[in-house]
Amino acid sequence: MITNWAGNVTYSARALHRPSSLAELREAVARAERVRPLGTGHSFNRLADTSGELISPAALPVVMEIDTAAGKVRVSAGVRYGELSRFLWTNGYALSNLASLPHISVAGAVSTGTHGSGAGNRSLSAEVAAVELVTADGSIVELSEGDDRFPGSVVALGALGVVAALTLRVRPAYEVSQTVFENLPGPAVRAHFTEIMRSAYSVSLFTSWTGDAVDQVWVKSVGEPALELFDAVRADGPRHPIPGGPAEWCTPQLGVPGPWHERLPHFRLEFTPSNGDELQSEYFVPADRAVEALDAIAEIRERIAPVLHISEIRAIAADELWLSPASGRDSVAIHFTWKPDAVAVEPVLTLIEERLAPYAARPHWGKVYGTPPERLAELYPRLGEFAALTRELDPRGKFRNDLLDSLLR
Ligand SMILES: Cc1cc2nc3c(=O)[nH]c(=O)nc-3n(C[C@H](O)[C@H](O)[C@H](O)COP(=O)(O)OP(=O)(O)OC[C@H]3O[C@@H](n4cnc5c(N)ncnc54)[C@H](O)[C@@H]3O)c2cc1C
Repeated sequence: MITNWAGNVTYSARALHRPSSLAELREAVARAERVRPLGTGHSFNRLADTSGELISPAALPVVMEIDTAAGKVRVSAGVRYGELSRFLWTNGYALSNLASLPHISVAGAVSTGTHGSGAGNRSLSAEVAAVELVTADGSIVELSEGDDRFPGSVVALGALGVVAALTLRVRPAYEVSQTVFENLPGPAVRAHFTEIMRSAYSVSLFTSWTGDAVDQVWVKSVGEPALELFDAVRADGPRHPIPGGPAEWCTPQLGVPGPWHERLPHFRLEFTPSNGDELQSEYFVPADRAVEALDAIAEIRERIAPVLHISEIRAIAADELWLSPASGRDSVAIHFTWKPDAVAVEPVLTLIEERLAPYAARPHWGKVYGTPPERLAELYPRLGEFAALTRELDPRGKFRNDLLDSLLR
């Protein structure tokens, strides 16, 4: 039985292959009738599922090659962000941002538009400069910046082939300090939302929706640590974003500067990220409508709070990738870490999607959502071009599954 990280999805796949060379990967893809790439399985829905075979690039020979002249790193698809980050730091380099956890594979993360926070930081996908794909007949196709098809090839949901390697932009290593503030009053959030989200390199608001105040604000600064944040109180010790969660699972706080990759994620590679017993959903709204959208959610907070571990609100700068949830618009993402009760969560999710409909909310591709395919087609104007690209690279639909069939009609 093959399940995702959260255990809420049992894949219907007949087998999971872990080829140990590019030649084996190409042969496995060419031979398969139906196939889907699998990363570290941290998605919460059936996006990676198939009735055929799953292929994980995790056992491919590890490649991490820095091109100092170009400011780029080439990385094999199975490498996790935590491993890549340590390698880059050791060599004096960095990525511009990371997600809340370093446990996820680079290829799986960028395939769904995974992001961190920071009004000036784009998604992790937007830092990809080239993609090396093994396509349906086992051939290798490289798509890089400048190619018309490239913007469709990064957030590609595993629909174009198995990514064998990626090239990402890097920059010189830097230090970050992380400070947690508590009890940011609701009126301050509403009056100064943009200022708060722009007050540091990366800012995350955590709320349990039990009251008007934001429970915690995680402020990640490059340069001087944050000392104050409106009427919020600086935490007197390390915190976990979920009330009562173990702070030792989290990256160092209290304003102590340290390596970028040991502060930008909330969770440490050696520990379980988040809670471990959970579901997740997330919606991206245009940044300039975020306060309205948050107010719309606040109206149903009595429905949300009982089934929730915690919500996180983050900022993501716009990119141009066709299927990126931040495509074409600076965004604010409203995230929900749910208790693991799908039956109780489903009606609340429907309510949230109704409330967020006026704000053209795009769901995270890797999390639980109910947004129908017709609505997704409206939300992603380039979806038709993406469907055409899948037909070009995968004419017989080898990489399709039920979810993609309904999306890419
Ligand atoms: C605790 C936790 C915290 C999270 N925090 C964040 C966060 O901070 N920000 C955020 O945006 N998301 C977050 N997520 C969601 C997560 O980042 C995404 O679901 C991401 O896609 C997971 O990467 P993965 O390697 O596990 O991919 P999988 O879940 O294995 O696969 C996701 C998709 O990528 C495709 N894929 C995987 N590998 C390849 C490949 N080699 N070639 C082509 N396609 C491939 C799969 O077919 C599938 O469609 C979190 C998830 C968890 C469990």
